[in-house]
Amino acid sequence: MIEIAGLTKSYGATTVLDGIDLSVGQGRIAAVVGPSGAGKSTLARCVNLLEQPTSGTIAVAGQDLTRLSRRDLRLARRQIGTVFQSANLLRRLTAAQNVALPMRHAGLPEAEIRRRVAELLERVGMLHRANHYPSQLSGGQRQRVGIARGLALGPSVLLADEATSGLDPDSTRAILDLLTELRDDLGLTVLVITHEMDVVRAIADQVAQLDHGRIVEQGPVADVVRRSDSGLSRALLSMPPVAAVERLRTWNVRYEGGDVSPVWLAQAGRELDADIAVLAALVEAVGESRVGRLALGIDPQLDERRVVEVLSRHGVVAEPTERPLLRAVPDAGAA
Ligand code: ADP
Repeated sequence: MIEIAGLTKSYGATTVLDGIDLSVGQGRIAAVVGPSGAGKSTLARCVNLLEQPTSGTIAVAGQDLTRLSRRDLRLARRQIGTVFQSANLLRRLTAAQNVALPMRHAGLPEAEIRRRVAELLERVGMLHRANHYPSQLSGGQRQRVGIARGLALGPSVLLADEATSGLDPDSTRAILDLLTELRDDLGLTVLVITHEMDVVRAIADQVAQLDHGRIVEQGPVADVVRRSDSGLSRALLSMPPVAAVERLRTWNVRYEGGDVSPVWLAQAGRELDADIAVLAALVEAVGESRVGRLALGIDPQLDERRVVEVLSRHGVVAEPTERPLLRAVPDAGAA
């Protein structure tokens, strides 16, 4: 539904976006992540047509938006709604007036504007706050109004640029649920620009990592998190520091398939006839399947091949760390 091809943006001699290819199907949520300075905001400004790309194309529903006349551009902009960080509502206008603003600019008839404002505020659960000013709303409520305003002209793509940055965890969750609902109910295509990996895991169908203006890694989230050797995979499922346990060998373990049993660890322990320590773990549902990364402590006397074999039968990949974090062999003289 949105098809970005060979997108390049330069300011003078500085190339900020360098050949971006990104395709997001209708009714999908794609996340773009990357370190500060990677080019995320520039990409967002190109996608919502605030900036003219230096080269490349951005097509929505098959129409290239980058080569339009001024008049056509105004119409094309309606295809893409934007939600900004901290909503960017006008302070002097009520929630309803803020939502109405894009429709006023577009010259829609007053009766239609009134009807649509009520419909949109209802949709985002804010009808009861229609006449409140932004200062009378919480951060999460302001962002709901921001989303309603982003939907005002009936876009097929919603661009959420750091839309949950600065919100508390409950408000973040509620906004992410709302975006998922909009995808499911309206078939909206959502492009989320974020630096928060939790956001990606919670709602994105696909993810692309931007670095120095290029996409260095991308794919469906459920696939990316299972990659063993990828920076994006480790960033998406990042574990707390491993708490070493004396006289145990540390193993890094990763769920390989989507059908790992929730009780695999106890079963594997019984099969190995060993006590297994969990040193660090992150196990989550991503989409339909469970993904996980763990650090386990296992008796170093156990045969490594047997450990690998038993764990792999449970659908997890296991590798011993380079060397035991502490002594592998009990030392009689140890304090
Ligand atoms: P991000 O959003 O990932 O932090 P940005 O898109 O803001 O990254 O910036 C990417 C790079 O482009 C940065 O090095 C920034 O200095 C540069 N840049 C952004 N806008 C301009 C501009 N108008 N002129 C020159 N350089 C810019």
